[in-house]
Amino acid sequence: MLSRMLIAALAFFAVAAQASHGSLAAVVVITGVTVVHPEREGAAVLEPDSTVIIHGDRIDAIVHGAIELTQGAKVIDGRGKWLVPGLVDAHVHFFQSGNLYTRPDAADFNAVVPYAQEVARNKARLDATFKVWLANGVTGVVDIGGPFWNFDMRDRAAVTAAAPRVAVAGPLLSMIEDPPLDLGDPPIIRIDTVEAGLALVKRELERNPDYIKVWFIYQPGDDVAAHEAIVKAAGDAAHAAGKKLAVHATELVVAKAALRAGADYLVHSVFDEPVDQEFIDLAKHNHVIYCPTLFVEESYELALSNQWRATPEELKRADPQILAAMDDLNEIPADRIPPRVAKWMAAAKPVAPPAIGMQNLRKLRDAGITIVMGTDAGNIGTLHGPSIYREMRLMQESGMTPLEILRAATTNGALVLGKPKDLGVVEAGRLADLVLLDADPLADSGNLAKVNRVIKNGVVYDPGELMKSLP
Ligand SMILES: [Zn+2]
Repeated sequence: MLSRMLIAALAFFAVAAQASHGSLAAVVVITGVTVVHPEREGAAVLEPDSTVIIHGDRIDAIVHGAIELTQGAKVIDGRGKWLVPGLVDAHVHFFQSGNLYTRPDAADFNAVVPYAQEVARNKARLDATFKVWLANGVTGVVDIGGPFWNFDMRDRAAVTAAAPRVAVAGPLLSMIEDPPLDLGDPPIIRIDTVEAGLALVKRELERNPDYIKVWFIYQPGDDVAAHEAIVKAAGDAAHAAGKKLAVHATELVVAKAALRAGADYLVHSVFDEPVDQEFIDLAKHNHVIYCPTLFVEESYELALSNQWRATPEELKRADPQILAAMDDLNEIPADRIPPRVAKWMAAAKPVAPPAIGMQNLRKLRDAGITIVMGTDAGNIGTLHGPSIYREMRLMQESGMTPLEILRAATTNGALVLGKPKDLGVVEAGRLADLVLLDADPLADSGNLAKVNRVIKNGVVYDPGELMKSLP
């Protein structure tokens, strides 16, 4: 706790600094707020009646009691509100929109909207998608695989104020090909040999990726050892260049192979069978980060059987273009609906969350594995932005506490973004990426949807205004 004298000095510094730096180094002061420290335990998590001083892009100080600021600072009344670090969605894809037309390999709607048109739309819509993320309190995202233009997307986000921070992977090294997604710059590239894998890693390293990503698909009868050798060679090359290895591995047999091959980041749950001690030991050995993505499978089933319904958060803070398209199955003539989809629609089977994935999450949480929050946004039915609330609801149903979920979505998210020293914690010296909430996120993680203001890089945004500004 700082003395009153020091507080006065800080306030003076804040005003003086603004005078010398002009409006670029703005001063923002949030008064009387309850600061939440997700990295802590027990009573230390909450720091009530705090005043947070932000100078330019960083947090200057957190002080207690009243301070006097006569001029220059933008003052936000934080009484009755909670301040948390900006959220991170650790698993998204900007080349996908979440609508029905975005994965022709799963449901071929080319006769309704050509896939090339859909991807061109997503590219042209990036600035709006960035704003949607911010409006949902997400100040950082990890795009964990897409076409080579993913790197241009990261560059664009870096020079756009109203955008989350973006870490990125390029095209996925895959065990299988995926021709419906190949428009000339494919997001998924089949790799059959160690040499071919190393060549692709080399091409990607030229663009300075944050991750090398492998799509470790498993089909019964596969030579898992041969595939593991490819993943290991790719991982070794990534590590030699100071990059991390991210792996999609949803079956226990390939998730273990991925860990043996050196995976740093498992981007999905193990969904097919309970994780065992061998898996936990491998995960601990690698200090792996585990992203459960509990909603995404359900989202395909809901959307393609026409049972997807928008949540209140989606009605408020999803891209309205995508939201409108989620009703398209009611409009598309029957002869243009893919036969598989028509069958799902007719059956309209009840859709349930992934029971094994949820049990595994609890088990890995208990084992002390680092968990992050990630949605796989962009997949059909998993909309950029408000899908985080669906995901966190399932994490809570799995047995994680609101504090653990908040930690997964902030402090641990900063690890996946590669900025653990700068983000994920509310303290002096950190970058000012913050979310001001109208309700207590420790009472219910659903309260993370009650976003009052979002602060990215020291700039304050009103979520409603961000949504209104979408073209
Ligand atoms: Zn994904």
